[in-house]
Amino acid sequence: MNPPGELLNIDLHTHSNCSDGALSPSQLVARAAAAGVEVLALTDHDTVAGLEQADHSAGGLGIRFVPGVEISAAWRAQSIHVLGLWIDPAAAQLREELDLQAERRRTRMVKICERLSKAGLPGAELLAAVQAQPGLPTRAHLAHAMVAGGHVGRADDAFRKYLGAGKSANVAADWPALDVVVGWIRAAGGVATLAHPARYTLSAGARRQLLVDFVAAGGAALEVVSGGNGAQHVEAVAAMAVKHGLMGSVGSDFHDPQLTWNPLGRSLKLPDGVTPVWHSYLK
Ligand code: AMP
Ligand code: MN
Ligand code: MN
Ligand code: MN
Repeated sequence: MNPPGELLNIDLHTHSNCSDGALSPSQLVARAAAAGVEVLALTDHDTVAGLEQADHSAGGLGIRFVPGVEISAAWRAQSIHVLGLWIDPAAAQLREELDLQAERRRTRMVKICERLSKAGLPGAELLAAVQAQPGLPTRAHLAHAMVAGGHVGRADDAFRKYLGAGKSANVAADWPALDVVVGWIRAAGGVATLAHPARYTLSAGARRQLLVDFVAAGGAALEVVSGGNGAQHVEAVAAMAVKHGLMGSVGSDFHDPQLTWNPLGRSLKLPDGVTPVWHSYLK
């Protein structure tokens, strides 16, 4: 039997302007269709606001749509992103918890902008510029506002100089614990998938423990292929998935057509030996 992964152009990690993506959910789906994507998940940061529009657009374009979300969680003082795939967007507990996540994001943004004021930047102006953009606020919104205001050259500079770990305007977010977030996803019928495992600053031992804790909490999959990751790296993460008994997912983490490192529709391939997370969902 051919695993569906070999036949399908599949992308299970994307963003719309309901969080920090550039495109509306329907624009995103149209772009994915044009790029040949056959199975698409929308996974905005801590919100399901775009799922209905995306699902509707996907139906008209023959794309199989996967309702998703990318939830911010805490593990050993690190921010960890957990994708909830095939969630029920109407699940009451999930919606209530995401409302609280939205509040945490808004409160954190105010604090970050206060820190920027202390650093000599126009914090109130930058906060207003973030609030004028669509979507639940993220540091990416703020980085855009800082570029637009001429305070930094590129978004990456905003993180390097102010917003990143250890910098003056880095505010520790009080995200709920990893196991709690996995619990919300499971209660909403979703598959908890650990996003971009290589992006966390962890020793090899800590990374192993993260995976052990994730599995113990009910985590089911690991994002083995993420965005622009190289082949060597994909093989290493595939080995981690197999070792910990996790299924594998693939996703571009697409945000913006202008960012070229993670385009939609590149037909990201999962290495042999890893069970595709979509196997039991796509018939
Ligand atoms: P937040 O979830 O509010 O902490 O914001 C994190 C988001 O900012 C990520 O999802 C990325 O989209 C974006 N981001 C993180 N680091 C960088 C960076 N160095 N340069 C540009 N964007 C970044
Ligand atoms: Mn993002
Ligand atoms: Mn992420
Ligand atoms: Mn993402």
